[in-house]
Amino acid sequence: MRAVVVGLGAMGLPTAWALAARGHQVVGIDRHGVASRVGSSAGETRIFRLAHERPDDVRLARLALDAWRALEQGAGEPLIDTVGLLLRGEPARQWVGALAAEGVAAEELDAAGVARVFPEAAARPGEYAALVPTDGVVFARRGLLAIAAAAAAAGVELGEPERLVAIEETPAGVRLETDRRTLEADVAVVSAGPWAEDLLAPLGVRLPLAPAIGQVSYWRGGGAWERRPSLIDFSRPNRLGVYGLPTPGKGYKVGLDYGDEAAFDREATGWAVRSDEEALNGDWVAEHLPGLRADGPYDSEGCPWTMTPDNDFAFGRRGAVVVAAGCCGHGFKHAPVLGEILADLAEGKDLWPEARVFDMDRFGPDAGFARVDTPLGARISI
Ligand SMILES: Cc1cc2nc3c(=O)[nH]c(=O)nc-3n(C[C@H](O)[C@H](O)[C@H](O)COP(=O)(O)OP(=O)(O)OC[C@H]3O[C@@H](n4cnc5c(N)ncnc54)[C@H](O)[C@@H]3O)c2cc1C
Repeated sequence: MRAVVVGLGAMGLPTAWALAARGHQVVGIDRHGVASRVGSSAGETRIFRLAHERPDDVRLARLALDAWRALEQGAGEPLIDTVGLLLRGEPARQWVGALAAEGVAAEELDAAGVARVFPEAAARPGEYAALVPTDGVVFARRGLLAIAAAAAAAGVELGEPERLVAIEETPAGVRLETDRRTLEADVAVVSAGPWAEDLLAPLGVRLPLAPAIGQVSYWRGGGAWERRPSLIDFSRPNRLGVYGLPTPGKGYKVGLDYGDEAAFDREATGWAVRSDEEALNGDWVAEHLPGLRADGPYDSEGCPWTMTPDNDFAFGRRGAVVVAAGCCGHGFKHAPVLGEILADLAEGKDLWPEARVFDMDRFGPDAGFARVDTPLGARISI
């Protein structure tokens, strides 16, 4: 089978690899190139976690962990660091239940326990908290490059930046016009992240997707900060969640769980730092992570993600086109396993049982987004 994968981020690149590893002839194209600074997969780190609300997602994450570990062998360097994940707030109880259902241990923590694992966090006595020791950080850029190397070794044609400008179904499969050439294939995978909507619309695929720019800020740390657990804090002051993770060489990274839809621009080649959001992030850290050194945030960066109304990915197939969209701000950790799921769709197989919740046909015509009030206006929360 001849396949073209359009968009080589955390969804498309492992799909190209999986297809080539199964013996298919694969061309991968990306308008910004592999591991660019523009797409949703940009940056050095992401939270890796088995912890999820649903046991099925825990199962997928376990498979992903095995795959990341196998990739580490070829990469010759660590791709996952299990510094642990601290969950704070009542919703964490359900996540710990989902982990337990899959046989993954989490340590429930009282206030003294939180202080032990994360001395810089503010005490919030009486609050539910847990540490998930299997979880931590995936080194995103390194991970993508490791997948790219595996894909190239499996025979994927990966070239210079190349932009898809038109795609149409043909009796034999699919024709793709890029800014450099015409490609004919039996199947195309459109995994174009926040740019998906414009590419899918001419094919009659209309999905409720909301691209937005998420922003993270860094607090400079010494050695200690680089070994603190990742953090998901459901405390929702002003109805926001917050996440954090250590990033070697940069310090501790903290982001608010919402993006700015107005800031996404399809033609942008970078994302300006929004100082109002940086200040809000700084206020949150001062209150909830007061032990962070007071010299931050010293740096911030934006990155686009794409929300769906229910915060789950949107996967499916229409004719000769496989769709992988709606990263929802948590797709990176699953990357190698998403590649296998999407390769199955490209081969005409069904979605895995654990992935049926990602079926893009689940959205009714009225699917809309709930927005939450934030100090910066109404936003879609992840
Ligand atoms: C701030 C932030 C924090 C996050 N935190 C986490 C986390 O802690 N843990 C986690 O697991 N996940 C996290 N995520 C989510 C994760 O990064 C995404 O789920 C994942 O990177 C999505 O990958 P993608 O392949 O869908 O999109 P992308 O990486 O954007 O890939 C799409 C690619 O398509 C290309 N493209 C677009 N249009 C065209 C065209 N016309 N022709 C050719 N190529 C095209 C783009 O250049 C791009 O490279 C976070 C995301 C953000 C933004």
